Amino acid sequence: MGAPGAGKGTQSEIISEKFGIPAVSTGAIIRAAIKNGTEMGKLAKEYADKGALVPDDVVIGIIRERLEQEDCKKGGYILDGFPRTVPQAEALDQMGIEIDVVISIEVPDEEIVERMSGRRVCEKCGATYHVVYNPSGDGSTCDKCGGNLTVRHDDTPEVVLDRLRVYHEQTEPLKEYYRKTGKLRTVRGQKELADTTKLVMAVLAEIFPEAAAQDRG
Ligand code: ADP
Ligand code: ZN
Repeated sequence: MGAPGAGKGTQSEIISEKFGIPAVSTGAIIRAAIKNGTEMGKLAKEYADKGALVPDDVVIGIIRERLEQEDCKKGGYILDGFPRTVPQAEALDQMGIEIDVVISIEVPDEEIVERMSGRRVCEKCGATYHVVYNPSGDGSTCDKCGGNLTVRHDDTPEVVLDRLRVYHEQTEPLKEYYRKTGKLRTVRGQKELADTTKLVMAVLAEIFPEAAAQDRG
């Protein structure tokens, strides 16, 4: 977990590649649904465009369906952007899903606002970049699939401030929820994404010593 733009998505893609487990991002699923104009997408768009959270029952339904797919039944997975409210966390508990560790990437609000202005996303595959901190090879197309890089609808400064408010009000209480169960670890989000990765990997090495030993970069 972490504020919008804290680097959750980027770090979860890196972990996913390193350990060969799926990264499940509710934000990416929701954005794909919006782009494809599905019923769920139309509903979600009304919330996401304003910087509000999509209703819990919708997001819980998305996760329930996604976690039933084969790739999530093998060697675990990373959840990126879920749970984001206490009821969503309770729903995970009720599904009988045991979380190994919750990593919160901490970045002060001022830095978030600055970062978001440089964020770009691939319109085809959803990979994220930053014009300064994580640029694509040629600066305008995706390294992974060649798609065009665009500014997300909800990355405009006004919407970012709303999303930060929502984060503090609705998502931050989850830190206490997971602190109580002893699952919470916090890392300070660094300017360079590779430096954040080092901190995240140190936490994972502690929790999963065997997997970390097999990591060859
Ligand atoms: P960020 O973390 O950078 O805000 P995401 O890509 O994770 O962006 O999410 C984009 C939008 O999708 C959110 O602003 C919200 O409207 C919706 N969303 C994503 N995950 C959830 C969730 N777990 N619960 C409710 N809404 C969500
Ligand atoms: Zn792409």
